[in-house]
Amino acid sequence: MQTGFVWHERYMWHNTGRASGPFLSDASGWLEPDWRHTENSDTKRRFRNLLDVSGLLDQLVRIDPRPATVEEVCRFHTPAYVDQVRELSAGAGGEGVDGTTVIGKGTYEVALLSAGGVIEAVDAVLDGKVDNVYALVRPCGHHALADAAMGFCVFGNAAIAAHHARVVRGLERVAIVDWDVHHGNGTQAAFYDDPLVLTISLHQDNCFPPGSGSVEETGEGAGEGFNLNVPLPPGSGDGAYEAAFERIVVPALERFQPQLIVVASGLDASAMDPLGRMMLSPKGYGRLTEIMLDAAARLCDGRLVVEHEGGYSAELVPFCGLAIVERLAGVETEVKGTILQEFPEHMGQQELQPHELALIERVAEAAGLAEPAVG
Ligand code: ZN
Repeated sequence: MQTGFVWHERYMWHNTGRASGPFLSDASGWLEPDWRHTENSDTKRRFRNLLDVSGLLDQLVRIDPRPATVEEVCRFHTPAYVDQVRELSAGAGGEGVDGTTVIGKGTYEVALLSAGGVIEAVDAVLDGKVDNVYALVRPCGHHALADAAMGFCVFGNAAIAAHHARVVRGLERVAIVDWDVHHGNGTQAAFYDDPLVLTISLHQDNCFPPGSGSVEETGEGAGEGFNLNVPLPPGSGDGAYEAAFERIVVPALERFQPQLIVVASGLDASAMDPLGRMMLSPKGYGRLTEIMLDAAARLCDGRLVVEHEGGYSAELVPFCGLAIVERLAGVETEVKGTILQEFPEHMGQQELQPHELALIERVAEAAGLAEPAVG
């Protein structure tokens, strides 16, 4: 198995400055600025560092990103928004619409490189250069709207790459599976009326954006039935996620028959994330990766692109990321048995709980994925 890896040092140079956790502070208000924003380069850099010291990085195929073109970005975003980001970035910087998102000086160029990194990942898989890819890009993308930055996201990397796969590479059906702890609202919006891109988001119920990501948001017009939300209860762990993948994600993919699967890989559903209240362990992320690998092998010649979204535990993100990349590459490193890897596995209620199963059954039935009655 050949696994590609997208990375660029400049991804780490997108500067989100100081904030009060994830919230931008105002010196005349009540939020005292901490020494850095929750979304900073640490988690991603440490993820890459662990790949490096484990020896796994040497076994991956390096894929260099390129800047996405304005034409590529505008397959999702409005030209006016792209202009706005460019102008803010060239000047003193600015903010998104939600009080959390920073457009720093030079962010425009880095955001283009982030979107272009996921496009290159898609091309590498479609060209058969690699079997699958992990694109460790920054800034993240799944909250970005056509005309606004949101939730630390500037350009919708997964949406832009899916458009590329369809428009330029001629694929008919692309599926995007989002396991970030937050709702993939931007990706949902990008394809809400489109039956050719299936969007599935598993997230903590009503976490971010507020009021977004309910079971009832199923698409509109021709896209009705091609958007699935799985708003899992806070506290969901490895068992709940695995059940949701087996009961909802895999059957939905089988019904849709994608030619490419893109995973929007937020590592903020981990048990130690400051912005999420879920309990995934590194082993759990590894298991979800195995399920996606298996689905891709059966449905689309193994074409799988995993592109990075959120994840804010500087300690646990690297181990979750390593578990994912180990599965993608089919390589087991010597990194085993550390307290950080094993501690989350043994937390209470990691196994599927009745109220989690009830939500999963409700989503499966609403989506017409109900299991046939036994007997
Ligand atoms: Zn997130």
